[in-house]
Amino acid sequence: MEDDTRSHDCELRLTEDQFSAFLRFSVDRAAEPVYWIDRRGCLVYVNESAGRILGWSREELLGMTVFQVDHTISEEAWPERWKHLRTVENHRYESRHVTRDGRFLPVEVSANFLSVGGEEFIVAFARDVSERKLAEQRLKLFEKVFENALEGITVTDKRGDIVSVNPAFSLITGYEAAEALGKNPRILKSDRHTPEFYKAMWAEIVKNGQWSGEIWNRRKSGEAYPEWLSISAIKDGGRITHYVAVFHDISEMKRKEDRILHQASHDALTNLPNRLLLADLMEKAIFHAKRSGHKLGVICLDLDNFKNINDSLGHAVGDDLLKAAAVRIRGILRAEDTVARPGGDEFMVLLGEIVHERDAVHVAEKILECFRRPFSVGGRELVLTASVGISVFPDDGETSDTLIKNADLAMYRAKAQGKNVYHLFTSQMNEAVTKRLNLEADLRRALDRGEFLVHYQPRLALLGARTVGMEALVRWRREPGLLVPPMEFIPVAEEIGLIVPLGRFVLETACARTAAINAGMGLSLKVSVNLSARQFAEKDLPETIAEILGRTGLAPACLEVEVTETVLMQNIVTAATMLGELAEMGVTASIDDFGTGYSSLYYLKKLPLAAIKIDRSFIRDIPRDPSDIAITTTIISMCQGLSLAVVAEGVETQEQFNFLLGLRCDECQGYLISRPLPATEFERFLRQSAGDAPA
Ligand code: C2E
Ligand code: MG
Ligand code: MG
Repeated sequence: MEDDTRSHDCELRLTEDQFSAFLRFSVDRAAEPVYWIDRRGCLVYVNESAGRILGWSREELLGMTVFQVDHTISEEAWPERWKHLRTVENHRYESRHVTRDGRFLPVEVSANFLSVGGEEFIVAFARDVSERKLAEQRLKLFEKVFENALEGITVTDKRGDIVSVNPAFSLITGYEAAEALGKNPRILKSDRHTPEFYKAMWAEIVKNGQWSGEIWNRRKSGEAYPEWLSISAIKDGGRITHYVAVFHDISEMKRKEDRILHQASHDALTNLPNRLLLADLMEKAIFHAKRSGHKLGVICLDLDNFKNINDSLGHAVGDDLLKAAAVRIRGILRAEDTVARPGGDEFMVLLGEIVHERDAVHVAEKILECFRRPFSVGGRELVLTASVGISVFPDDGETSDTLIKNADLAMYRAKAQGKNVYHLFTSQMNEAVTKRLNLEADLRRALDRGEFLVHYQPRLALLGARTVGMEALVRWRREPGLLVPPMEFIPVAEEIGLIVPLGRFVLETACARTAAINAGMGLSLKVSVNLSARQFAEKDLPETIAEILGRTGLAPACLEVEVTETVLMQNIVTAATMLGELAEMGVTASIDDFGTGYSSLYYLKKLPLAAIKIDRSFIRDIPRDPSDIAITTTIISMCQGLSLAVVAEGVETQEQFNFLLGLRCDECQGYLISRPLPATEFERFLRQSAGDAPA
């Protein structure tokens, strides 16, 4: 025992004073706080560490009590506590010490009873455990998160064996924790991904320590589901010890997404693909057709007169009819063909892989054929026809846009040919489109360029053969020496919305000219101006007219507006209001082209109208055609009963004139009297006829 002897020797070398100085030094400098407490609870000694962690100076602490320092000991409880501490050796407890700035410091205290020189003390050693507490708290928190997370969490060891899973894992995968522990997460693998996919995933985890992405896994039930998965490698000292996978089930989200996608790409009524999806499918089909050398057929089908059904039987019947039509069309197609509903009463069929144009024609014929049978909808048997246009890839276009556009064009041609027929696209149709586009472009510029003129055609009172007014008719001087008749551009102007400013121009010009003629010649001629559907639908039309009359100085009674029956019947209620407002101003209205629309005198009776103009198609064959005679006679006599003036249009012969005179028709208009004339010529006509007129 040589070592023992030597250490004993060393100890012996210290004097008593030296040794107590050493002890004092050690306690003073010990890393952990040390407190001596007397019976009263006063601190009689504290070491440097105590002062440091509590933030007081040692002098200050020596004037304080244990109750001020230890949060868990109160002054009242101290005597009891003292008694207790006297009896136990090395009493350990957890406590919280109060720092000078009011914080609580978690400590572990070991308290010892010490009796010296007849006095009793407690010597307490305290250890700051705040770090450990914090770590514990964090761990608890993690545990809570782990337990309560909505995300499934899997922890594996470095070999990939599952060491821990949370409840959400079981909820999502269907595997209880006990079933999963020790297994490889491969148990969740679906067959939706290739081995390369997993290889790439693991390569990334190894390289970056992390991977996240969408992945399909399989539940215990066998059902595959999509999840969003993040895998992180956990390292300790640079070496991977664990992997943590966090995932959440996104199948519900996917379902919603799919639903939204479906809604965005399908027509809600028929559940057929919409224009968007059709274009998409067509692009794909074109791609494949290019490779295989096949042709594609595009059929555009528009139901004839569908608007009438909607208007007369209601939208519910219209909707049912569309659904039934969709089912019928689908029924005659092959599975690989697509039928879509781009909108309204139009369907599109995409025929994948046809060999010849004939194949598309054959399908078009079958479609028309299948419409021969009436549809039973809402307890009714309805007969529906369709007009069909066909375009073929690659002959009639190489993109979905062109193919759709050209099939559309062919369909319009079929419609124009009398409906219920099909028509193949031809390149001439394209020329027609180009022509039309040029017309539109020129038309838009025409107003600013001052290319529009107004001609005037006299209106004659049959009795006395007196000019009582004139109709203002617009002309377009598109090029020098070329006057375009209104029927060639009015419908286009109407379609592109140009009719409103154009109509305003005609109104202004006609009113100004008439005011000037009336003033200059001492007349009170009435000018009639044609109003288009759009113009008539403008709410502020009465204000516009009032403003024009005010500015040009034309008496309201010298202006008449002409509207067709079709325009009036489109909305009989607003038409009545509009005509009422005009009548209040003193402006009269007449029905143009009477006999070509609804021809309902019953309705007309309810409107404030001054005159009706019999369409020239009824006048043309008078007096040869007995039915024209009958119609004209009836219209005139009925109007007399309703106190409506009658104007006959298109009177070209003296015979017609005499016949109308015999029926006591009020006025006539036509080439017999004069063609429509430029303003200056019209004024000359007036002067001449004034000279001719019987005195
Ligand atoms: P509308 O209002 O029925 O005008 C009468 C049309 O018949 C005029 O054709 C006129 O030239 C023509 N006409 C007159 N007498 C005879 C005749 O004896 N024999 C034949 N065969 N035709 C005759 P126009 O000027 O070509 O106008 C055609 C249509 O264009 C007008 O039919 C009217 O609906 C529309 N229109 C003309 N000017 C305007 C306008 O300023 N605004 C609107 N919205 N439409 C207009
Ligand atoms: Mg007219
Ligand atoms: Mg007319």
